[in-house]
Amino acid sequence: KAKQQGRNAFQCYTGDLDSKLSLRVMLRNELQEAIDHDQLVLHYQPLLDAAGRVDGLEALVRWRHPVKGFISPADFIPLSEETGQIIPLSRWVMAQACRDARTLVDQGLLAGRMAVNLSPMQFHRPSFLATLRGVLDETGLPASHLELELTEGILMRDTEGAIDILNALNGMGISTAIDDFGTGFSSLGYLRTLPIDKIKIDRTFVKHVTESDKDAAICQGVITLARELDLRVVAEGIETHDQHDYLRHHGCEVFQGYLFARPMPLDALVEWLEAHPRP
Ligand code: C2E
Ligand code: MG
Ligand code: MG
Ligand code: MG
Repeated sequence: KAKQQGRNAFQCYTGDLDSKLSLRVMLRNELQEAIDHDQLVLHYQPLLDAAGRVDGLEALVRWRHPVKGFISPADFIPLSEETGQIIPLSRWVMAQACRDARTLVDQGLLAGRMAVNLSPMQFHRPSFLATLRGVLDETGLPASHLELELTEGILMRDTEGAIDILNALNGMGISTAIDDFGTGFSSLGYLRTLPIDKIKIDRTFVKHVTESDKDAAICQGVITLARELDLRVVAEGIETHDQHDYLRHHGCEVFQGYLFARPMPLDALVEWLEAHPRP
C-alpha cells in the first residue's frame, strides 16, 4: 500500500510539475506577444505632499491580456526577470513613461518627477546608463523630471557597482528612491554610503500603523532616520485618513495611496491633474 501511495504521490508530483512548466511556457510566449503587440500599458499614480499638492507620479505597468483581462505586474515581472524578457519590457516602460512625462510637463501638468521602477537585471546591465541617456534624448524629457525606484535587493547585489551607477545618475540630475524600504533585510549602514535621495516606507508597515505599536515604531524610526540622513520620505499604500494623519503628524513628507488616487491610465490622469491643485 505504501508503495502504491508513493507511486501516486510521484505521479501527482510530475503532473504538477508538468502543468507548472506548461503554464510557464505559455506565459512566456504570451508575454512576448504582449511586448510585441501593444498589450502593455502604463498606469500612473500621483504622490502628494503634506499640503495635498502633487509631488510627482509613479509609473506602474499592466498587462492588458486579450482573454484574461488586466494582469498585475506582481504576476509577470518576476517571470520576465527569469526569462530575460524584463529587458525589452523595461525598455518599453522607460520610453513610454518618459514620453508621457514629457507630454505632461509640456502641458504644465507635471512640475515634479515621474518615478519608474527598476528591475535588478536592468540596473546591473553594462548598457543601463547608455540606454537611459538614449531614452531621455529620444523623448526630450529633462532628467530633472525623472526618478528611479530601486529595491534594497538591487543595491545589495553589487554594492560597489551600484554606487558607481548611482553617482552617474546623480551627475545626470536623475533622482533615486529606495522602494519597499524595510522589507529587504539589508544593513542600515548602506544608507550612509549610497547617494540616494528618497526612501519609500513599504505599505505593509503603513497598513497597521494606527493599530500596531510595532508598525508605528518602524514607521517613526524610518522617518527619523530619513530626516537625520537628509533623505525625503514617502509613505506608500495610504488607504485611510487615520494613516495619513498619523504619518503626517510624525513628519512624513510625501504620501501615495488609494485614499488620494489609484493608478490610472494617462487620459484619466490628465483629467485628475487638471482638477487638482498644483504647486
Ligand atoms: P511598488 O513599486 O511598491 O508599487 C506600489 C504598488 O502598490 C502598486 O501595485 C500600486 O498599485 C499599489 N498601491 C498603491 N497604493 C495602494 C494602496 O493604497 N493600497 C494598496 N493595497 N496598494 C496600493 P502594482 O501596480 O500591482 O505593482 C506591484 C509591483 O510591481 C510594484 O510595487 C513594483 O515593484 C512592480 N512594478 C510595477 N511596475 C513595474 C515596472 O514597470 N518595472 C518593474 N521592474 N517593476 C514594476
Ligand atoms: Mg515603486
Ligand atoms: Mg513601493
Ligand atoms: Mg511596495
